[in-house]
Amino acid sequence: MIAGWGNLAVPGRERLSEQLERASAEAVLCRGLGRSYGDSSLPPAGHPEVLGTRLADRIVAFDQESGRIRAEAGLSLFELNRLFLRRGWFVPVTPGTQFVTLGGMVAADVHGKNHHVEGCFGSDHVLGLKMRLASGELVECGPEREPELFTATCGGMGLLGHVLEVEFELRRIPSPWIASESRRIGGIDQFLEALKDASARYPYVVGWIDCLSRGPSMGRGILDAGRWATAEEAAGRALPTTRRLTFPMMLPSWALGRPSVRAFNTAYYWKHAQQLRRGLRHPDSFFYPLDMILHWNRMYGRRGFTQYQCVIPAAAGAEGVRRFLELLSSKGGASFLAVIKDCGAESRGILSFPLPGISIALDIAVRDDTQALVDTLNEALITMGGRIYLAKDAFTRAAHFRAMEPRLERFLAARARFDPARRIRSAQSVRLLGDRP
Ligand SMILES: Cc1cc2nc3c(=O)[nH]c(=O)nc-3n(C[C@H](O)[C@H](O)[C@H](O)COP(=O)(O)OP(=O)(O)OC[C@H]3O[C@@H](n4cnc5c(N)ncnc54)[C@H](O)[C@@H]3O)c2cc1C
Repeated sequence: MIAGWGNLAVPGRERLSEQLERASAEAVLCRGLGRSYGDSSLPPAGHPEVLGTRLADRIVAFDQESGRIRAEAGLSLFELNRLFLRRGWFVPVTPGTQFVTLGGMVAADVHGKNHHVEGCFGSDHVLGLKMRLASGELVECGPEREPELFTATCGGMGLLGHVLEVEFELRRIPSPWIASESRRIGGIDQFLEALKDASARYPYVVGWIDCLSRGPSMGRGILDAGRWATAEEAAGRALPTTRRLTFPMMLPSWALGRPSVRAFNTAYYWKHAQQLRRGLRHPDSFFYPLDMILHWNRMYGRRGFTQYQCVIPAAAGAEGVRRFLELLSSKGGASFLAVIKDCGAESRGILSFPLPGISIALDIAVRDDTQALVDTLNEALITMGGRIYLAKDAFTRAAHFRAMEPRLERFLAARARFDPARRIRSAQSVRLLGDRP
């Protein structure tokens, strides 16, 4: 059996190889560290083997002046941070976990807390990719070289070809610490204002909201903002190594009912005792709080969970966000703190997720009514012109995806050019794009 981060397992196996160039000749799909929640890294039913890239993690070149780096697609962000952070370099865009590979970051065109200033990792920062196409041909592509292949690959969830190497520039950072500000906010309208205000002052901004609170406190939560601390602020403080705990077992499903979720969210909100807290934060705790507990996905038990992440376009306004949260709450979409972000401009990746507006991401334990809940949320999202994030999705229906994705025809045209027989495919592409299993 093989599963994504949501633990929704399907029959299949992973074949690991250090030699991507050779192993990718026959592969139907590549997979990195399996941190996409749903079925994008899972093989189609009729071809249960997926090529695992994580052993192919060599750094091919690094320029100490410019920070330009070329590495194999299986290199993890954890390893990059281990090697480069203390030496004063960091990636231009990081997702909320460092247990991802470069190939996965490109395929999902990941965004981070700095999306409003830096856009997405693949389409806004990658300078070149070495790829193997379905035909077997090896090609180089980038923003100027084979741009159609490049823009379809960034955000294309592995369907255009196998990424073998990734080239981009690391950024110089003044110290390895984050100067952060974190604030408690009482309701959704103030939250949206505070996100705007913080985004104008800080490169990194994210919020955690309690989507079970109702009335005037609906959408209350904690807003986190930060920037790299200057060398003076850090004052030579060494970065301690992060110690992680491991979640020991699958929890039974009753443990995740509405009362426990409500109690957790309330405690988290009030734990933030002061209205405003400022200080230096370890980058692991600022960027990757969920990585502190390894295997935390076991918390959702044997049935697993899905993450529903959508972006509600700016045009829908605060009213759109409020309606969405009300709908969620009325349908019983209990979730531990949901993540809220203010997204910046759309990137050039044909299927890149972000869109100017508000992104909301919430974990939903799988129950008998999960499909109905996702359908209802998607129907509301379509009326507002929003879209979901493929890297998280496991339940969206093909018709809903088509309705929320006007860019789909362009993506399918690129795919028809580079893989006319649709040889490269996934469980997700079978579900959403009608590929053969
Ligand atoms: C706790 C947590 C927090 C997260 N936070 C964020 C966030 O803030 N922002 C964000 O954007 N995402 C976020 N994610 C999602 C995550 O960044 C993406 O799903 C990412 O793609 C996972 O990388 P991976 O290496 O694990 O890829 P996998 O999950 O293994 O694969 C993901 C996709 O990439 C494709 N792929 C992988 N390697 C290759 C390759 N070499 N060539 C071609 N295709 C390939 C796979 O086929 C699949 O379609 C988060 C995930 C978790 C678990």
